[in-house]
Amino acid sequence: MPELPEVETVRRRLEPSLTGRRFERVDIRDARLTRPNDPAEVAAELEGERIERVDRRGKYLIFRFESGRVLLIHLRMTGNMLYASEGADAVDAADAADAHRRAVIRLDNGADVVYRDVRRFGTWLLVEADELDEYLATRLGEEPLDRGFTVAALAARLRDRRAPVKAALLDQRTLAGLGNIYVDEALWRARIHPLRPAGTVGSDELPELRRAIRRTLQAGIRRQGATLRDYRQPDGTQGRMQTEFKVYGREGEPCERCGTPIEKTRAGGRGTWYCPDCQRR
Ligand SMILES: [Zn+2]
Repeated sequence: MPELPEVETVRRRLEPSLTGRRFERVDIRDARLTRPNDPAEVAAELEGERIERVDRRGKYLIFRFESGRVLLIHLRMTGNMLYASEGADAVDAADAADAHRRAVIRLDNGADVVYRDVRRFGTWLLVEADELDEYLATRLGEEPLDRGFTVAALAARLRDRRAPVKAALLDQRTLAGLGNIYVDEALWRARIHPLRPAGTVGSDELPELRRAIRRTLQAGIRRQGATLRDYRQPDGTQGRMQTEFKVYGREGEPCERCGTPIEKTRAGGRGTWYCPDCQRR
C-alpha cells in the first residue's frame, strides 16, 4: 500500500534522526523479513554499522552506511517504520498492537527504530555498495520526480504497449513508485481512461500525463501520504492525502470537475476508479 509519497514521507521523517547514528543492537524477530537470508546473521551484520544517509528509490527505503553497504527496505502492504526516541518500551505503553513488531534497531543514542508489519510482506535486504545499482536498475524505471522523467522517457515506456495504461503505470519498470491510488488520481487529472491501451496515449496527451503524475505525487508528499489502513509516519501520526482523493474509493460520488458520478472498474487486477465523462475511452 505505501506508494512513493508515503515512503518519501517516512524517509524525510527518519533521515534527521538516523543520519550519523550507529546501529548498536538489531533484533529481527521474523524470518520472513530477511528471507532467504538468516535473520540472526543479517542482524549481526547490521550491528555496528553507522548511517550515512537515508535515501529512497521508488518504493524502496535505502539506508546507506558509512561502510558503503546498504539496507534496502520495502514496506510492501503494511510495513511501518516507527521512531521511538525513548526506546521501544515507551511505544509499547502507547500502542498495545505490538504483536506485529518484526524488528527493532537500537541506536547509539538509546532511541529505537521499530519495524511493524501486520501482513508480513515487507522485506529487508542487505547489499554491498557495488550491487545496489544493478539490483534497482533491473526492477525500476525512472524516478517520476527526477529530471530524467521526461515526456520522451514516458513515451518510450508506453510505446506499442497493449496493456491498459493503468496496468502499465503500476508496473514498477515503467515508472518507479506509483501504486493503485496515485495512478488512478493521475489518470483522472490527465483525463485518460484507465483501460485505454498504453500505446494509444498520444503525443498530445503525454505532457499532461507526465505533469499529472508529478503533481499527484507532490500533493501526496505535501500531505504526508495517505492513511487508509496501516500506514503511519515514523512518529505514529497519519497522513492526510486520503481526504483529497478525486476518484480513488469514491464510487458514486460526483466528479469534482463535471459532477458525473465516479465509476469503479478493474484494471491490472486492481480496483480502479475514474470519471466516465472526463476520462472517455
Ligand atoms: Zn468528470
